[in-house]
Amino acid sequence: MSARPTAPVFPRTWGRTDLPVPYATAWSEEKASVGKALISNRSGTGLAYRDEVPTDRDRHGVLWARMTEAPGEGRPNFSTLHSFRQRRSMFDMLCQVCGEPASRTSRGILFLLPHPAGEKKTSDWAEGALSTKPPLCEPCADLATRHCPHLADPLFVRSRKPRIWGVFGGFLTPTANGLRSSPTNDYIPYGHAAAAWFLASQLVIELTRCQVVR
Ligand SMILES: [Zn+2]
Repeated sequence: MSARPTAPVFPRTWGRTDLPVPYATAWSEEKASVGKALISNRSGTGLAYRDEVPTDRDRHGVLWARMTEAPGEGRPNFSTLHSFRQRRSMFDMLCQVCGEPASRTSRGILFLLPHPAGEKKTSDWAEGALSTKPPLCEPCADLATRHCPHLADPLFVRSRKPRIWGVFGGFLTPTANGLRSSPTNDYIPYGHAAAAWFLASQLVIELTRCQVVR
């Protein structure tokens, strides 16, 4: 008798309809632990955690939001990417759905981008686009177009040079009553003058040497 092939861990499925849940998607039991743990550093020049450890910052010295890891627990939150798995997918160019290496050909690495209605689909449409959405492998890109409602008319884009650009997150400003979060989130490039007051939650890449392939 032959052994049954091992089922892949990702994508996990959820609910009565076995909806595929991407590797990078956050689950409801994965909690962001920010709040009271954050302070102004001793010299008052930027943010710090009270009990900061080296892994709280990236190689550019930017502080990251902490999030527990419990994929598969609770409900998937399809509109949120888990900060660690998003960052890992971007650094290692892993498929955001199955967590395996993304599709890479001579035309570049595969990304799926929502196409704003009314915009002309030129072959270099995505050139210079900033994105927090990690790449995909081909089977998962097809899967995503079938299951993701926000990808109504997606474009398959290949980038020969996806470049680490900066981070997405929010500023916190010191006030007499402690730190105050800015009401909106921002994209900032690495090297930004106020990066010391920024709490990152996603890595941002710039897609360069792009072409729309589908
Ligand atoms: Zn995949």
